Amino acid sequence: MSCTKIAMKTLIATAVATACAPGTPKAIPSDKDVEAKVEQVLGTMTLEQKAGQLVQLNISVLEDESRERIDPEKLNSIIGDYKVGSILNVMHDRAHTRHQTAEMVRQIQEKSMEAIGIPCIYGLDMIHGASYLTEGSLYPQEINLAASFNLEFARMMGRAIAYETRAAQVPWVFSPVMDLGRDPRWPRQWESFGEDPYLQAQMAKAETEAVQGSDPNHIDPYHAAVSIKHFMGYGVPVSGKDRTPAIIAENDLREKFFAPFLECFRAGALTAMVNSASINGIPTHANAVLLSGWVKDQLGWDGMLVTDWADIDNLWQRDHVAADKKEAVAMGINAGIDMIMDPYDPECCTAIVELVREGRISRERLDDAVRRVLRLKVRLGLFENPVWDCDYPEFASPAFAAESYQAALESEVLLKNEGGILPLGKKARILVTGPNANSLRALNGGWSYTWQGSADDYVPGYNTIVEALEKRFDSVQYVPGVVYGSDDWQKDFAVDVDKAVKAAAGADVIVACVGENSYCETTGNMDDLNLSANQKELVRRLAATGKPVILILNEGRPRLIGDIEPLCAAVVDVMLPSNFGADALAALLSADENFSGKLPFTYPKHTASLHTYDYKVTEHRETMEGSYNYDAVMDVQWPFGHGLSYTEFSYANLRVEGPSSFRVGDTLKVKVDVTNTGRRDGKEAVLLFSSDLVASLIPDVKRLRRFEKVEIPAGQTRTVAFSLKASDLAFVGADGKWRLEEGDFRLSCGGQSALIHCTETYIWDTPNID
Ligand code: BGC
Repeated sequence: MSCTKIAMKTLIATAVATACAPGTPKAIPSDKDVEAKVEQVLGTMTLEQKAGQLVQLNISVLEDESRERIDPEKLNSIIGDYKVGSILNVMHDRAHTRHQTAEMVRQIQEKSMEAIGIPCIYGLDMIHGASYLTEGSLYPQEINLAASFNLEFARMMGRAIAYETRAAQVPWVFSPVMDLGRDPRWPRQWESFGEDPYLQAQMAKAETEAVQGSDPNHIDPYHAAVSIKHFMGYGVPVSGKDRTPAIIAENDLREKFFAPFLECFRAGALTAMVNSASINGIPTHANAVLLSGWVKDQLGWDGMLVTDWADIDNLWQRDHVAADKKEAVAMGINAGIDMIMDPYDPECCTAIVELVREGRISRERLDDAVRRVLRLKVRLGLFENPVWDCDYPEFASPAFAAESYQAALESEVLLKNEGGILPLGKKARILVTGPNANSLRALNGGWSYTWQGSADDYVPGYNTIVEALEKRFDSVQYVPGVVYGSDDWQKDFAVDVDKAVKAAAGADVIVACVGENSYCETTGNMDDLNLSANQKELVRRLAATGKPVILILNEGRPRLIGDIEPLCAAVVDVMLPSNFGADALAALLSADENFSGKLPFTYPKHTASLHTYDYKVTEHRETMEGSYNYDAVMDVQWPFGHGLSYTEFSYANLRVEGPSSFRVGDTLKVKVDVTNTGRRDGKEAVLLFSSDLVASLIPDVKRLRRFEKVEIPAGQTRTVAFSLKASDLAFVGADGKWRLEEGDFRLSCGGQSALIHCTETYIWDTPNID
């Protein structure tokens, strides 16, 4: 046996032996009746029934040949014989109507109640609306909601996700996604709320509370259970490729990656899905310190941890930390996994039974995991109502559509507007071009009707960019120039660039819609962060005509455009604004609406200069002092928080009311006056940052501490007030403890700054950050 394996197993044994500390405040308060029901059911269960509860299979194992219906014999086998407790995903790998989905779930529940007397729990990836229902409502992807800096949209989307998913008899959603999108090479940046831990935490918490409702012990039929994911550190693989190893220092892990999850656990998140990859050499699915230690023991969290797709198999087949399937199952469950998403293999149930009989999984750990699964089902009311009979009058309602449109409006970011080329007059002659100009698929991105995203096949009736512009402007001509392949959908092909160039002669302005086609997970792995050569060439050729180019970026992550940006008069990043994104864009380009989105990530300029806004002071020439010229040029295209408007805002009087010296436990009242100095009404995301000027670890150059979106009519001033706890300024030291250190801090907001002083050092144990 290799050293690594011994070390891993030691780690696992240690953490499992750590009992939940007595008196630990529980992340979710327990409910007597819920616990009584759980114990009553558990007391009647056989070992085989218990094993089945710990397994989740893909719906494909139940499909008949048509792939549209359930095969009764397979149902007998999977639910009747193996007693599997959970199913996920969609038949035929594509969206179905609400009623088809509900009927499928009803059959599974009938069988489950008849055969084992325990309801099945069905889960779906509803990450930006009811993404797997053909007629469901879709909202802009999470990266867009982050760009709005408006928590209302996370609440609205969460509520709609729960409502519509529940209308299809599904009570569990695998969202919010809360991986920090800190590396644009990683293909899932768009699924989460951007690069900043605080923004991520606030948005994910708002969505969690909206999905689950006010009482996690009693979820009503209009709310659902979340699975916050992917716990944790998934978004910063060293290679940039999906599902590959990350190296994260423990202080960073706690301070930046864990903190958003902590907010959601404390907000009552009922389940969490585990990071598919590994941190510091330990596959997260085998990391007892994180799963059992940080989450269950330290937080007293009684929710359920589910694996990601086939990740128990990955422990032996990919990661080589287990010799075979059984060892991998034991490793995962002993580390703290409660439910194994083992998509195609019901034999996983048999493996669990054998492992318990062989003593490799203890009866205590088995019962603990089963309790967590049962508790979730009880909390969702599934025992009384495996299916429910409620009306859902708001399903796919105009109200949800209006919210989606509004979220798109507030999330599209105006990055450049040279000489006020925008807005465009209604009579402007517009040439629309580029591979993203006529695609709902590209506007929606992945997890839209299908896993990889294929909105064009599902939703006639919504406008693509060219269609929306045609409706809003008098003279629109469309020549694609470059198109995405139909089979090879990630590649693009130059088709009629010459024609586009010719058409430019008759236009006043060129709207070039470029970016990426939809993708999800590993299909989005890339070799080059640059925008594709074909698309850059299209822009170059069009710019050479002398006509002004408005560059529209429709992409899940920032593709590099440093060489073509100077050729463009204006740039708008719409990211993935979904079905109403094009309508929103047309309204913004015409100034029927005003821009107010800001970047929730750093837009890089060079492939070898990737960093986040909260870099260390020693990483960047601008903030670096000392004896050497390190020449660390880290120029970015646009910084985190950048976003223009058709009006201007000026900031004044950043101040702390009361004494500017503080100690732990104090709350600072920070105020700033924001004036709309332009001629149009507008909304402004006001961002408050702090910088720790001297600390025992090299400080981050700045950190976002608060934000608020305010609407300010032209010519008026609003005073924005933030309440900032002293502990919000703490960081995690090398010893893994939170520290608020004596010394000066600088607050900054819209070009204003103020010095404040902490009068004492205070150190406290994790996981508390209060
Ligand atoms: C993804 C998860 C998703 C799961 C179930 C995995 O491949 O990583 O985000 O929830 O599949 O569809």
